[in-house]
Amino acid sequence: MTSAPSADAPRSVTILGATGSVGASTVDLITRSPERFTVEAVTANKDAERLAAIARQLGARTAAVADEAAYPALKAALSGSGIEAAGGAEAVVEAAARPAEWVMGAIVGAAGLRPILTAIRRGAMVAFANKECLVCAGELMMAEVRQHGATLLPVDSEHNAIFQVFQPGAKVRRLILTASGGPFREWSREQMAAATPAQAVAHPNWSMGAKISVDSATLMNKGLELIEASHLFAMPEDQIEIVVHPQSVIHSLVDYADGSVLAQLGVPDMRVPIAYTLAWPERMETPCAALDLAKIARLDFRQPDPERFPALRLTRECLRQGGSAATVLNAANEVAVAAFLEGRIGFLDIERIVEATLAMIPAQAVATLDEVFAIDAEARRHAAAL
Ligand code: NDP
Repeated sequence: MTSAPSADAPRSVTILGATGSVGASTVDLITRSPERFTVEAVTANKDAERLAAIARQLGARTAAVADEAAYPALKAALSGSGIEAAGGAEAVVEAAARPAEWVMGAIVGAAGLRPILTAIRRGAMVAFANKECLVCAGELMMAEVRQHGATLLPVDSEHNAIFQVFQPGAKVRRLILTASGGPFREWSREQMAAATPAQAVAHPNWSMGAKISVDSATLMNKGLELIEASHLFAMPEDQIEIVVHPQSVIHSLVDYADGSVLAQLGVPDMRVPIAYTLAWPERMETPCAALDLAKIARLDFRQPDPERFPALRLTRECLRQGGSAATVLNAANEVAVAAFLEGRIGFLDIERIVEATLAMIPAQAVATLDEVFAIDAEARRHAAAL
């Protein structure tokens, strides 16, 4: 962890993935407190029009799209604004390299790994939403965080909750990650076999991007979060429990050795955890509703069903195996979810493809990021063929 920033000077920020769901919540919070922030860079993949509007709204210095084909549209949309436009995957990495004190990592998928590592390597404060990066290269990434004295501020509501109640050095019995259970919480396997993309992305509690919404429906999201929590809080797999909590009011808990269990509660609105990272180590106001406990009246908890949701077993196995296993799992899942969203495979094919890809590539030790990228590419090839 690095030293706390000055409370007076505006914080300079960069938003990687500014056009997405987490990006939009971040933009909303910054817009509401313009005196607190200056914006260095904003990035997207291909949504040039939206990115240009965000860059103008926030007065960003630069805007970059990863997809080179979107660059002419970005350049045209920013013409006369004085905001620099850039295109290509390298331009997004360069945006992350610019000297913002705080960087939001809200790109979806392992595509965020190079930009996030770039911010980490210059010791930035990284608000970390892009869980696929930690799943894909967790050990190497955490080593880079330690080496460069960067600060990782977890954005995922569960990890943000744990971060808020985590006492470093204290004896922890276990971490308890809560899960809403997703839109198919009560569905049978037969019903899930016929699930459409529209049904899978209709999350009961959270409004999110398409990929994470499908991950929530398979419960792969909770599995990815298990791996993420293990790296962020240096906790072994058997000390992380998952409990289904349909109301999404308790965002996660830490069970300490003395029997005290600390939890963080709040309305299910991503602006709450994002604001915690934006203002860290202070707190800032948000427009989020106050928690009305009397109206909520009851909180329910139950064990997740491993038979209906095999993603939980797969992710636990990968975490126990270590090495490249989670890299393969993540890559295969990204490919399968994209195919499902395009209507090319059924919902239950996602887990089948992930499991089959894992069987094709035995877990091996990974020592460098190049090895991670090679395994990621190999897993994507196998998954795409399946
Ligand atoms: P979205 O799909 O809504 O947004 C993804 C963002 O990443 C967009 O800005 C998109 O640009 C950009 N992007 C996509 N591909 C690339 C690429 N190859 N290179 C550079 N940029 C790219 O995702 P979410 O906001 O829902 O999720 C972002 C991350 O945060 C994910 O890892 C997710 O798991 C995590 N997360 C999300 C939560 C949520 O509430 N949404 C909660 C907790 C974690 P474009 O618009 O041009 O496609």
